[in-house]
Amino acid sequence: MTISGSWQRTARGAGLLSLDGSIRPTIFAEMSALASSTGAINLGQGFPDEDGPAEVLEAARRAISDGLNQYPPAIGMPVLREAIAAHQKRFYALDVDADREVLVTAGATEALAATLLALVDDGDEVVTLEPFYDAYGAVIALARGVHVMVPLRLPDFLPDHDDLRAAVTDRTRVILINNPNNPTGTVLPKETLELVVELAHAHDAIIVTDEVYEHLTFGEPHLPIATLPGGRERTVTISSGGKTFNTTGWKIGWLTAPHDIVTAILAVKQFLTFVNGAPFQPAIAVGLGLSDEFFDSIAHTLQAKRDLLSSGLTKAGFAVTMPQAGYFVVADAAPLGYPDAATLCRQLPELAGVVGIPISAFCTAQLGAEYSSLVRFAYCKKTDVLQRATAQLEQLGR
Ligand code: PMP
Ligand code: GLN
Repeated sequence: MTISGSWQRTARGAGLLSLDGSIRPTIFAEMSALASSTGAINLGQGFPDEDGPAEVLEAARRAISDGLNQYPPAIGMPVLREAIAAHQKRFYALDVDADREVLVTAGATEALAATLLALVDDGDEVVTLEPFYDAYGAVIALARGVHVMVPLRLPDFLPDHDDLRAAVTDRTRVILINNPNNPTGTVLPKETLELVVELAHAHDAIIVTDEVYEHLTFGEPHLPIATLPGGRERTVTISSGGKTFNTTGWKIGWLTAPHDIVTAILAVKQFLTFVNGAPFQPAIAVGLGLSDEFFDSIAHTLQAKRDLLSSGLTKAGFAVTMPQAGYFVVADAAPLGYPDAATLCRQLPELAGVVGIPISAFCTAQLGAEYSSLVRFAYCKKTDVLQRATAQLEQLGR
């Protein structure tokens, strides 16, 4: 039997559908499988190899013991929604109504999917930066939207403002930004965020902002686009506990937005997962209320890991673009004599016992060709793992 359907659009949107109609796994799944089959150090898929704060883990265990094991409310447990609202107030001076303007989701991924499925009609344009997180292309395709891209340009992976102006038109329904950015580690300058707000107003578009790396910035504190004048009333802000509390497998995410938009998204979300993660919701609430010292320390610890991996990669002969935030560093393998990162990444376990992800996996063909020698390496790993990885990568230049 041949099964056709919207999965094909989704897969095509994510670049997963081959010409013969077969489907490949996501690049993250493929590279993690390669790491486990070869025993190579996995600097591909972005997940930490250490547990997060003990209080958060303990709160989840307690919640299970206390019997919080049934369906929570569709919009999320009050304790978590209140913690999210308090977090927005504490870090960004944003007043968010915990009962009307917050929605708890199955990770940032479901927040993105439900948002785009709710807001995008057939043929509506969705503008993203490129390279983009793989789910964006897939979900835009599933929503039958048209994906319009603005390249992040070297040397700093910043968007050109004229490109952004040209991309946003009256056909644009959503401007979807990811700040701080995966895979480039870019933090968008305030002027760029202001331009996004200006363009959204001029063309009556909604801003969707994926801020899952909000607490992992290495310079200025994170600036949510919803804090800018005119931003909040047309912005859906998405985040997740996964990156902040080293709990990527818990899949507790959320969004904050004006009430009418939350209602539209809830209408979709309640038939995707309905709800998820009952005992994890109060645990993430505990995490959001941890001390300033905790939030400072996670960024500092990660910055030291960024520096360690970046200098190791430089020593190994890669040309590195220094990330300003997040889990990943982009390294150019061309100086080492490897112009094709997609091929290199598949050989890297054998050559150096390490796994990375080619940046072309986050791009369409045109930019992918331009960025063909770039590799994304994750530094959200133990220090000794990063030390071993860099020592092994130094063999490449020999
Ligand atoms: N957005 C970005 C930019 C990501 O890097 C990730 C992966 N962590 C997600 C969304 C998905 O987040 P979650 O695991 O909470 O669904
Ligand atoms: N966000 C993770 C990354 O960028 C991967 C999540 C996934 O495997 N879908 O590596």
